[in-house]
Amino acid sequence: AIYTGSSVFGLGNFYSELMKGLGASERIFELMDYKTNIPIHVGDKIDSIEGDIEFKNINFKYPSRLNTPIFNGLNLKIERGSNVCIVGPSGSGKSTISQLLLRFYDPGNGEVVVNGRNIKDLNLNHYRTKLGYVPQESLLFNGTIRENILFGQSDASEEDIYYALKLSNSYEFVTNLPDGLETNLGSLNSTQLSGGQKQRLSLARTLIRNPRVLILDEATSALDSISEEIVLKNLKALNSKEEMTIISIAHRLSTIKNSDRIIVLNKHGEIVEDGNFNDLYDNPNSQLNNLLKNNDTNAV
Ligand code: ATP
Repeated sequence: AIYTGSSVFGLGNFYSELMKGLGASERIFELMDYKTNIPIHVGDKIDSIEGDIEFKNINFKYPSRLNTPIFNGLNLKIERGSNVCIVGPSGSGKSTISQLLLRFYDPGNGEVVVNGRNIKDLNLNHYRTKLGYVPQESLLFNGTIRENILFGQSDASEEDIYYALKLSNSYEFVTNLPDGLETNLGSLNSTQLSGGQKQRLSLARTLIRNPRVLILDEATSALDSISEEIVLKNLKALNSKEEMTIISIAHRLSTIKNSDRIIVLNKHGEIVEDGNFNDLYDNPNSQLNNLLKNNDTNAV
């Protein structure tokens, strides 16, 4: 998991400043404090993410921990329009896969390939706008729910907002608030929005952009099971209707079983199993079942 700080940012008046000059995805990553030295405005722009996503022979260590290799020759192909779930014990490198795909880090060896191109050759800011990323820790700031959902997406219509609220199962709780979409999150103390409600709002913010690739890093972990079921069902429909590629990182069985393909990592960052949920779940000796049995994952 990648933890990204407090859940309601006190940006106050800085909000409008932040909204000027920066692209929408760039703003989100500024908020997340994922600033790296990687130049974000050079390279080719792509219109859309069309092909498969490939991790080719990836070697990777975090710059701050050069004695701890995370991946040694990772190969993984994620087909366009697929719905995959990455599972594995804590520290196995699940979140690191999303960090590499978002290019917060470059691999030491190997390449991440999108549309047949090494993502290092793409305009990073532009490329990231094609990806939707929902981390476990919601990033809401001191502004209204509307502002939080739009987050610079100024061309979104009222219908788009309601559509995103419905997809993320937020519609009911938001419209039941006395000020609805105009509710200022800064004025709500933290007990007034549950962790699950915050997660649903950050999901709405991502879904309103209709990304071609959606990366969910334990993004529904705080939802109660009924709400999670609704959200997962909506995401599944998007996956099949709109061919939105979904990459989930999950610990919960409920999330895992909603994916078509399960990739199991071991603690050395190696793929030890890769298959369809039913086959793996029905096999008592599968790595997936081992993982679930040992409760090596957090909450199943
Ligand atoms: P979890 O299930 O606990 O979320 P994970 O499988 O997602 O774990 P990662 O977050 O990818 O694992 O982390 C893999 C390893 O890299 C861990 O040992 C972690 O401590 C380390 N790590 C993660 N982020 C960084 C970072 N920014 N700098 C240095 N080390 C990191």
